[in-house]
Amino acid sequence: MDYKQRQRRLQGLLEPSHLDALLVTHLPNIRYLCGFSGSAGALIVTEERCVFLTDGRYTEQARDEVKGAKVNVLSKSPLAGAADWLRENRRTLGRKRLGVEATHLCVADHGGLKKNLGSSFHLRPAPALMERMRMVKDAEEIACIRSAVMLGAGLLDRALQTIRAGVSETEVAAEMEYTARQRGADGMSFDTIVASGPRSARPHGRASSSPIPPKGFVVCDFGVILAGYCSDMTRTVHVGSPARADQDLYEAVRDAQHAAVQAVRPGISVAEVDQSARSVLKKRGLGRYFTHSTGHGVGLEIHEPPRIAVGHNEVLQPGMVITIEPGAYVAGRGGVRIEDMVLVVEGGCEVLTPSPKELITI
Ligand code: ZN
Ligand code: ZN
Repeated sequence: MDYKQRQRRLQGLLEPSHLDALLVTHLPNIRYLCGFSGSAGALIVTEERCVFLTDGRYTEQARDEVKGAKVNVLSKSPLAGAADWLRENRRTLGRKRLGVEATHLCVADHGGLKKNLGSSFHLRPAPALMERMRMVKDAEEIACIRSAVMLGAGLLDRALQTIRAGVSETEVAAEMEYTARQRGADGMSFDTIVASGPRSARPHGRASSSPIPPKGFVVCDFGVILAGYCSDMTRTVHVGSPARADQDLYEAVRDAQHAAVQAVRPGISVAEVDQSARSVLKKRGLGRYFTHSTGHGVGLEIHEPPRIAVGHNEVLQPGMVITIEPGAYVAGRGGVRIEDMVLVVEGGCEVLTPSPKELITI
């Protein structure tokens, strides 16, 4: 990863954002900017310098991983250390306008920082500089995401081997997660969702101890983390032969998913992509059962901008990686969701998730 180039891009955004320094505390942003993958750190970015602060547990890891930033190992918290560094270097910081990541800094830390810095610094919520940078993935990130997607997609076979009437949802999830780790995943990108029978009507039905019923849908939503990057996919299968109405429900969601994938191209707004899935379900009288947004960005985090939803005006650009995951959930009966990850490319998109989308019956 070209961390130096990312740091330079961010440094170029400071003055236009009316900041003399940015204090980066959100760990995925720190990883993006300097490569550190541990769980305690802070990064100060000024127009000329990048200083990374961590505690003694990460001495070796920081020296190993951190690129392009000076590493300071402290015997106090990274945030307290950052305040010390800022105070010591305040003369070089122009008007002392310090940007903080408001959506990631808790009230207690903000209070502590203010107290430690004294009145000469002006703390201000930074605009979403990092989030905007991270939305468009570079070639190395796309390669990492492809590998994560392939590893993740390979778990579907394991799910299909395990799903049977009477087997618990957690057993299916456990088999998938064990296989993921055996194949080299850093971990799962979220708690694996296996939701069967009427539970499939809960869009976020985490795997429970419930046995899979003899008949009905099973929604499997899962992803892995590989080299820091997440994958995310959903397939819905049916145990027993589906009734006509269930087949129709599945077909409607599949068509909606297809329509949204077809709509993805540079220049289109996320609301339009959302609408293209939603209108298919609406036409089949299923609009009210599609109760969430159509997708989200994926990268170092499982959910990151842009959101593919009504009321959002982000415009897609080449290099963005998003999910397309419409669903329909009928309480008491069951639900269907189909989710792929797609890469926005010139003129359209590339579907990264390889697995087929016909209804699989078990
Ligand atoms: Zn998912
Ligand atoms: Zn998703």
